[in-house]
Amino acid sequence: MECSESDCERPAAVELHVPWDENRLVCAAHARVLGQRDGIVADPLPDRSEDLLE
Ligand SMILES: [Zn+2]
Repeated sequence: MECSESDCERPAAVELHVPWDENRLVCAAHARVLGQRDGIVADPLPDRSEDLLE
C-alpha cells in the first residue's frame, strides 16, 4: 500500500480521517504535514508503526 498523495511512492504508514473527504492512507511524512490541519485525525496503522520512529 503506497501513500495516496500524488508523486509519493513511500509506503503508507498512517490512516488520515478527513471529515470533509474520504479517509486516506499516507506515509509518515505526509501524515505529519496533513495532520496539522484542523479536523484531521492521524491514525497510525498498527503493522507499520515502526515507520514512525525517527
Ligand atoms: Zn507521502
